[in-house]
Amino acid sequence: MSKTILVTGSSRGIGKAIALYLANEEYDLVIHCRSEVEQAKKVVNQINELGKTARFLQFDISDRKQCAEVINYDIEENGAYYGVVCNAGIISDNAFPLLTGEAWDAVVHTNLDGFYNVLHPVVMPMIMRHKPGRIVTLSSVSGIMGSRGQVNYSAAKAGIIGATKALALELAKRNITVNCVAPGLIETEMLGDFSKDDIKKNIPAQRVGSTKEVAAAVAFFMSEDAGYITRQVLSVNGGLC
Ligand code: NDP
Repeated sequence: MSKTILVTGSSRGIGKAIALYLANEEYDLVIHCRSEVEQAKKVVNQINELGKTARFLQFDISDRKQCAEVINYDIEENGAYYGVVCNAGIISDNAFPLLTGEAWDAVVHTNLDGFYNVLHPVVMPMIMRHKPGRIVTLSSVSGIMGSRGQVNYSAAKAGIIGATKALALELAKRNITVNCVAPGLIETEMLGDFSKDDIKKNIPAQRVGSTKEVAAAVAFFMSEDAGYITRQVLSVNGGLC
């Protein structure tokens, strides 16, 4: 029987790479975005061209009511998911004295509230499948060690690690694993400007990571053979911490 995985924020960047990687591993995909509908639909088409099934959902992960409405409807129509990847996220960086309340709220409401808003509607149907399930969240090196200019993002991403570990405890006896992937600097639009010197100085591997390298870690947690691995954080960061 087919296994369906929802990947939030899969219109571009890491989420898109995760969706394409998982499609190549025989899963059906639910592609998602907030605003880049055309890009998300291109990802759906790419997956369909591989001969795999994908559908598309649009909602804002910081909007609790919208998440519940769209996800509940999708599950009623198509059945519970085997897996969910909570990938969608944003940054809004500044030195703390200059960090506005709006930047704090946007980053926390999107990255951390998104954990609740997306996972709350999916978890009970996953339990009711009475089959193994997989949840993977995306944190960051910032959530592990804190990053300058990212007090808001570091707080939200550290919160995701705590929430992931706690949910893993609750779902372990249901055969649903909950793990976290914490990327370092990955080649995406979110990366911004880092000089080659900074990269060489700070990253033992002396390079940024690729989206495929993050996707491979997520796919491992999704696999049937990873069923005894839960409540873990896997860093994909070239030895940064
Ligand atoms: P991108 O900015 O490239 O893509 C972000 C994705 O999230 C897009 O699909 C976007 O949708 C979606 N998204 C953003 N805000 C919302 C929202 N409110 N509701 C719904 N969807 C939303 O990000 P990356 O691929 O670089 O990052 C993916 C994840 O990995 C994030 O959680 C990020 O924090 C984490 N990460 C990234 C690192 C990096 O170096 N890139 C390092 C460490 C962690 P739309 O296109 O519609 O806007």
